[in-house]
Amino acid sequence: MKRVWLEDIAKHEGKEIKLVGWVFNKRSSGKIKFLLVRDGSGVVQCILSKFDVSEEIFNKYQDVSIECSVEIIGVPRKEERSLSGYELDIKDFNVIGKSEEYPIGKKEHGVDFLLNNRHLWLRSTKQRAILKIRHEVIRAARDFFNNLGFINVDAPIFTPNACEGTTTLFEVDYFDNKAFLSQSGQLYNEAAVMAHGKVYCFGPVFRAEKSKTRRHLTEFWQIEPEIAYINIDENMQLQEDMTLFILKRVLENREQELKVLERDIDFLKAIKGPFPRVKYDDAVKILKDLGEEVEWGDDFGAPQETKLTEQYKTPIFLHRFPAKIKPFYMQRDPEDERLSLGVDMLAPEGYGEIIGGGQRMEDPIALREKIKEEGLSEDDFKWFLDLREYGTVPHGGFGLGIERCVAWITGTQHIRECIPFPRTIYRLEP
Ligand code: ATP
Ligand code: MN
Repeated sequence: MKRVWLEDIAKHEGKEIKLVGWVFNKRSSGKIKFLLVRDGSGVVQCILSKFDVSEEIFNKYQDVSIECSVEIIGVPRKEERSLSGYELDIKDFNVIGKSEEYPIGKKEHGVDFLLNNRHLWLRSTKQRAILKIRHEVIRAARDFFNNLGFINVDAPIFTPNACEGTTTLFEVDYFDNKAFLSQSGQLYNEAAVMAHGKVYCFGPVFRAEKSKTRRHLTEFWQIEPEIAYINIDENMQLQEDMTLFILKRVLENREQELKVLERDIDFLKAIKGPFPRVKYDDAVKILKDLGEEVEWGDDFGAPQETKLTEQYKTPIFLHRFPAKIKPFYMQRDPEDERLSLGVDMLAPEGYGEIIGGGQRMEDPIALREKIKEEGLSEDDFKWFLDLREYGTVPHGGFGLGIERCVAWITGTQHIRECIPFPRTIYRLEP
């Protein structure tokens, strides 16, 4: 008999099917046993009744324990009160893989214990909900750009130089040389965009983040679009359109998971464009008025981002930062040389920056100067300068941090639950 996935159970009402999965929970009331079985695509309550099966089959219940795997032959029956709308009457079943003393129980566990058991913790209801939403976010982001005709051109992971500053670089041996793990695909995106006009890359990036925060992983995933002939206003519009597209998809397809996570769904549903566009200069004034100790030129930390975003019910854009706090390749504001044309998106409810982006420097002479000022070697960046020597155009893009976005949408306080196997300064396992 071919297995039936629980997501398709409605098509099999009243007919005998085979279900394979794991026992998520069990309960006994004498002559009737209840097995809550999960197969990844759904959960169903299965009924094992002494009146329906032989004694031999009924006694197999003794082998059932939390998280053991089972193969069940049974008949789905409509049951309005159950979450899936069905129950399964068991005709026969077998335990396939035993699970004795499953370490994760219903009691509260410390987060270190759960992270040490991440390989098992993934099976828990909330963790499954978060990773399903993560999947939805990635799928939506890719669909958004694919629908607009963007070409996916991925960037290398082994790179010869840094693009987000040298303090968070991971160095690895590369035969007789050194290489660095990529911190962002952006520089390579800039080459690809001159070939394809609109591109995106999607992949893991690495940053040796030494500070312990709720928002920083050492390995995280980014989707990074880059567009030729875009300006900073169009860049903001694209970020906004993408964010609304992702939100809509999650609300359409993953409402159940949002409920499991007790997310304020109405708050998400009420989010509409246009998102406020706040200049850095004005943000400093707003923060000062709110009593924050900030000075012009500071890079805002999490507390300031939270203070600022608390004033709004949608994500906001922060743009036109002091050039000193942004990477060297960012285009300067023609109206104020102290500023660079960067634009970040900050999520509401205290989740902070989820997107970083901006306009890239397009003039070869200016870029060469900045490379020199940074103390970088022109040789290392020869190829990057070539992009300006041969048919330069205004261009820009941004990077969305997938886990930051998932943390916000799911309402997860700590980013480590938004990636299957988190990597931080203190954790490389499992
Ligand atoms: P932050 O100031 O919060 O460290 P950043 O300015 O270093 O962020 P960018 O270099 O602009 O971030 O990277 C683009 C996006 O990647 C960020 O908006 C964020 O969503 C995500 N991101 C950056 N660093 C991390 C990290 N260590 N862990 C997870 N996501 C990150
Ligand atoms: Mn950072």
